[in-house]
Amino acid sequence: MATLRFEALKLSLDRKPIQVIEPAVRRSELYGINVFNLSNISHYLPKDAFNAVMDAVNLGKKIDRKIADQVASAMKSWAISKGATHYTHWFQPLTGGTAEKHDAFFEPKGDGTAIDKFDGGQLVQQEPDASSFPSGGIRNTFEARGYSAWDPTSPAFIMGTTLCIPTIFVSYTGEALDNKVPLLRALHAVDEAATDIARYFDKNVGKVIATLGWEQEYFLIDSALAATRPDLMMAGRVLLGHEAAKGQQLEDHYFGSIPERALAFMRDLEIECIKLAVPVKTRHNEVAPNQFEVAPLFEEANLAVDHNSLLMDIMSKVAGRHNFKVLFHEKPFAGINGSGKHNNWSLATDTGVNLLGPGKTPKSNLQFLTFFINTIKAVNDNADLLRASIASANNDHRLGANEAPPAIISVFIGKYLSQVLDELENVSDGSLSPEEKTELKLNVVGKIPEILLDNTDRNRTSPFAFTGNKFEFRAVGSSANCAKAMTILNLIVAEQLVSFKKEVDHLVENMGMKKDDAIFNVLRELIKSSKKVRFEGDGYSEDWVKEAKKRGLSNFKTTPEALKVMISKESLALFEKHKIMNKIEVEARYEIELEEYIKKVQIEGRILGDISRNHVIPTAVAYQNKLIENVQGLKDIFGNDYTQYASEQINLIKQISGHIGSIMSNVDKMTEARKKANIIDHADKRAVAYCNNVKPYFDEIRYACDKLELLIDDELWPLTKYRELLFTK
Ligand code: ADP
Ligand code: MG
Repeated sequence: MATLRFEALKLSLDRKPIQVIEPAVRRSELYGINVFNLSNISHYLPKDAFNAVMDAVNLGKKIDRKIADQVASAMKSWAISKGATHYTHWFQPLTGGTAEKHDAFFEPKGDGTAIDKFDGGQLVQQEPDASSFPSGGIRNTFEARGYSAWDPTSPAFIMGTTLCIPTIFVSYTGEALDNKVPLLRALHAVDEAATDIARYFDKNVGKVIATLGWEQEYFLIDSALAATRPDLMMAGRVLLGHEAAKGQQLEDHYFGSIPERALAFMRDLEIECIKLAVPVKTRHNEVAPNQFEVAPLFEEANLAVDHNSLLMDIMSKVAGRHNFKVLFHEKPFAGINGSGKHNNWSLATDTGVNLLGPGKTPKSNLQFLTFFINTIKAVNDNADLLRASIASANNDHRLGANEAPPAIISVFIGKYLSQVLDELENVSDGSLSPEEKTELKLNVVGKIPEILLDNTDRNRTSPFAFTGNKFEFRAVGSSANCAKAMTILNLIVAEQLVSFKKEVDHLVENMGMKKDDAIFNVLRELIKSSKKVRFEGDGYSEDWVKEAKKRGLSNFKTTPEALKVMISKESLALFEKHKIMNKIEVEARYEIELEEYIKKVQIEGRILGDISRNHVIPTAVAYQNKLIENVQGLKDIFGNDYTQYASEQINLIKQISGHIGSIMSNVDKMTEARKKANIIDHADKRAVAYCNNVKPYFDEIRYACDKLELLIDDELWPLTKYRELLFTK
């Protein structure tokens, strides 16, 4: 019966690492060879066109049609010289993935011959027939029009034989239909707000960019083994399966030597990434068996987000070549560590200063503290929005599951900076005396070491931790598009910086305070009013849950609860104020995310019902029949004395019947609950019904199935087990 499982096992055990022939060229020489980068652009474009592109990239200026034609023609020549035959607008619809529709360059001339054609029009705007992408009702299917438009800030690249042009995706009426548009708007908002503040300290600052360095965690599972699990194939996680005798308790996988097959995959992946200028730099084993991480150097946030989407796409492709299935799910295996995507974030000026990096002088440290404290305040005031930005059905399994940060948003800054903030809190009200200023500058602000990195204690249990020269938002899910988290984070920091400036300027202009005094005064108030979000202890502990509740921090454990804040009056006002999204756009996203949640739980429910009925129960019955045969045989031999020899078998037969009964009745009840949920009109209520009335059956059904897995003859069990999925190298 279990032949497929054993064939797959044999296949996977026989596999050898697929040796990628490492090109003789060094990686530094491969870097960006498939990207239409600045050096290519300058080579292919006349000077004035090149400058126009630079202005578009750096200053957000519009590119006119003539220049667009020149850029298109340059891109085409470059792409064709690299063997490209097609082009596509590459965008990130609200499904979370990426989308592309390839068109060939060639165009028949009408005289039987053809030319390669690609002009400014095709570069700048396309109208993909995209009526099947989620739009949350913005774009009625009958008008089915969505436009993709060139984003010159993210360079075009070649994948395979296709020229990919990063684009935004908007509706006919101008609403954002993707994750990139709100992100670009939030990056613009934070640029304006942060530049104003940075200019308090240095008049030469003309622009501030947000930087992002993500760390992507994932699992690698042998593709043949994965194919034996309908749940892994369709839901990306196992919905049942008993934990192996050995899990991750020995902690022997973390940073251990990378298994050969996985290493071969990583090498191949890195080469593909490097060619596309995705600067992957770090690779290592993660905590769980067969779990790994890849991390790049940080980049400007929009580019980093594109690069993460690109990476996930490349990873799935390269994994296929190496007979792996890569799992991005936040919690593919209950009982084993899940995967996150830590978002390391900071702000940097065009003068080359990291605004969250402590500097050499008291002045630069005051600037550091200003951005540092304002970020904490932003999180304090908008923790719920930040939580909403990472909400998904998958991430619900991870947040608060005692290995990932809890669903409670808090900020960790370490002992050293906590002390600095405590001292700053005592700054006296109003203008400071010269002594006070000296004391502050020399002994508090002046003493922040330039290299905090070595001084910051790491707290792995915090969802939002300061790590020496950046904040690390650790609660982002591994399968998420970081654009969502980055949009919210940059938006709330922008909002906070705007309000900071107002207060400082007020003290300076109306109260006659010196700028430094004003900054100290406002910072002091911010420290006081953002205390509740600061937490230095163990985020996994029960005590923290209680303490957080006392402090009035939210603990939204499920997506339907967490998402609600998106459409609150305050959130809508905030989105509108900074022109990130209008009401229609926010409500559309809310709707889409709820629908996605519902569909995920619904699909998982169906899969679980199918597997338990079609795989588990028939196997249980088959094994039970074997036992019955055995009991019957014992009866034939021993007559009435048989019970003496068959009591354990009879006991097993009863236990199996019990579990079968439990599975059947719970699957029936779950199906009923689904039916009831499906007829609920509003998505928010339907999502709650799926969360509270459907999902709880998953655990009940799984419990009985996992018990059966332990009772039933291994030879008969059709589903590849944890130990095989996780320990096959
Ligand atoms: P870990 O968190 O695993 O200890 P590191 O602290 O070395 O690892 O760095 C993790 C990530 O932080 C890397 O992707 C790196 O590029 C990124 N990073 C470093 N500095 C910044 C910055 N100023 N802005 C954004 N990301 C950064
Ligand atoms: Mg990290």
